[in-house]
Amino acid sequence: TDEAMMKIEKLSAVGQLAAGIAHEVRNPLTALKGFTQILHATAMGDQRRYCDIMRGELDRIEMILNELLLLAKPHVINIQPTNMKYILEEVTTLLYAQAALNNVVMKTEIGNKIPLVACDANQLKQVLINVMQNAIEAMPHGGDMVLKLTADEGNVHLACIDNGQGIPADRLNQLGKPFFSTKSKGTGLGFMISRKIIEAHGGDIQVASEVGKGTTVRIVLPAHT
Ligand code: ADP
Ligand code: MG
Repeated sequence: TDEAMMKIEKLSAVGQLAAGIAHEVRNPLTALKGFTQILHATAMGDQRRYCDIMRGELDRIEMILNELLLLAKPHVINIQPTNMKYILEEVTTLLYAQAALNNVVMKTEIGNKIPLVACDANQLKQVLINVMQNAIEAMPHGGDMVLKLTADEGNVHLACIDNGQGIPADRLNQLGKPFFSTKSKGTGLGFMISRKIIEAHGGDIQVASEVGKGTTVRIVLPAHT
């Protein structure tokens, strides 16, 4: 619909702005990293330690910038009636190696007669990558990730179920706030971006979780009529 199209365009405009800023900040950041390295070479004692801390923090800024740059891709918005099954297949192929390396077994269950969804396939792929990567990262000692694609009147449902560490109740409502992350190498932007994309498509994303048992992320998208 036109309304969905406008929401997606607006989201994309915000993404372009974020990416523009990220791009501008990257060059001076590279200079800072370089000079920190030079300082490190001649520094002694505590100063050397301070250089290491600076380097670590600069790396962190760089990681956040890289995630913001991702927001702006793709530059062209392309809404097409799409079979979610193919998006799911593409993303599982993409993440297959990462899952295998982490001893995560992916299973896909696809229901009958799944209607098409009017969407920007690249943006939805981005969402699935975020959600599935979170599931893999929640299972550091391996586990199962089940992806279920089903449909009811008017909607397509996609569930990503993991049996990882889970999310404590008090943290569940922080999920989706920018920069909320429990990972040393996390940016805390993935879920927020995913929610924005799903909402721009007129859909909804919900998380249910139990500590020690696992997490289920449910995405609902309106079927294309
Ligand atoms: P990041 O992955 O960079 O930390 P996200 O926005 O993708 O940022 O996720 C935010 C936080 O939500 C994660 O740091 C983690 O604590 C929690 N989280 C998200 N998905 C899961 C999951 N499937 N299992 C456990 N925790 C999760
Ligand atoms: Mg993430």
